[in-house]
Amino acid sequence: MSLSAQFAKRMSRMKASEIRELLKLLDQPGMLSFAGGIPDPALFPAEAFAEAFQDALSPGRQARSLQYSVSEGYLPLREWIADHMATLGVTCGPEQVLITSGSQQALDYLGKLFLSPNDTALVGWPTYLGAIAAFNAYEPRFDQLRIGDNQPPVSYAIAAEVAGGRVKFAYLSPDFANPTGETLTQAERLAVLDVAEALNCAVIEDAAYQALRYEGEPVAPILALEQARKGGDLEACRTIYCGTFSKTLSPGLRVGWVVAASPVIAQLVLMKQAADLHSATLNQIATHQVAAALYESHTATLRAVYGRRRDAMLRALEQHMPAGVSWVRPEGGMFVWLTLPTGQDGAALLQRALAQEQVAFVPGQAFFADGSGANTLRLSFSNSSETQIAEGVARLGRILSEPQ
Ligand code: PMP
Repeated sequence: MSLSAQFAKRMSRMKASEIRELLKLLDQPGMLSFAGGIPDPALFPAEAFAEAFQDALSPGRQARSLQYSVSEGYLPLREWIADHMATLGVTCGPEQVLITSGSQQALDYLGKLFLSPNDTALVGWPTYLGAIAAFNAYEPRFDQLRIGDNQPPVSYAIAAEVAGGRVKFAYLSPDFANPTGETLTQAERLAVLDVAEALNCAVIEDAAYQALRYEGEPVAPILALEQARKGGDLEACRTIYCGTFSKTLSPGLRVGWVVAASPVIAQLVLMKQAADLHSATLNQIATHQVAAALYESHTATLRAVYGRRRDAMLRALEQHMPAGVSWVRPEGGMFVWLTLPTGQDGAALLQRALAQEQVAFVPGQAFFADGSGANTLRLSFSNSSETQIAEGVARLGRILSEPQ
């Protein structure tokens, strides 16, 4: 019996990636992987979490930690997040914060909130693959958000209308984006706001890597810039900020957050009630305790260690890449983005890299909603030692120096 004829139309857009299949080979001995954009587990604040879970499960607290809780999220954690947002220049109250199960859930909910079939989502070419996947379920059309090329906003609106919908939001990750590692200047962030104002659409600001800056001065979040423009009134803002503890404390606990104007939060709360009632109470309580105790010192440690790894990767690329290969120098985050000479193919290169040199990365094409970008690669430096980075990039250099 097959039920495939009964699957909803939206499922035709949700495909398993061939790359994921290839990357199953990563467990082989001797493999060096720059593929997963994941934190180094050796850097998890595991002892602090062990203590926090122990405390939360102590006789006086377990009735609360193991119980259902409100969909908005654990209030002390929302208060901590409101204070944290203040350090970034955003003034909000806990009622403007929703706890989500990772920021991935926020992306799914925002797709559900805004996108009817054929509506347009403006995204970068390339952009975070998980955002394309989350939005895809709502059958949108994607258009390329071009920042700084002075394209008149009305051209986005016209194209959206021709496709039978409207531009609903621009999605972007302004700090050390996945996959490019690029950071938008303040002027570019303001330009995105101008486009969104002209189109009367939302801005989804994905701040997953915001805390991981290794050089240069922080740039204010888009939400902070907009709030300043609107005289401090968050309720007047169209920017929806998605944060997460995944890159700083632990991705496995699945704790993220959204900051937005109350009507948006209210809609997202309805979705959360319908989808999973609330994020795990125990995880929220433990995350609050750990964040309150060591968020600042722990992120400083991460910045020091990951910053050295970034430096090691940039040094190794200088040393080993053949002429014609270029890359972005990220000021933070977890990724270096490579562009190969036109005509070279990242997926074919991955097959050879796995078989001949036992080194892995993610071919860049999957990050392009229009299927372009075949000659690009994403390398992650977060989960390899400096020695592994030097060796892995040397291996990659050998493959790239072979006649194609
Ligand atoms: N946004 C970006 C840009 C990411 O890279 C990731 C994780 N790779 C996420 C969101 C989702 O992270 P999480 O759900 O763990 O918060």
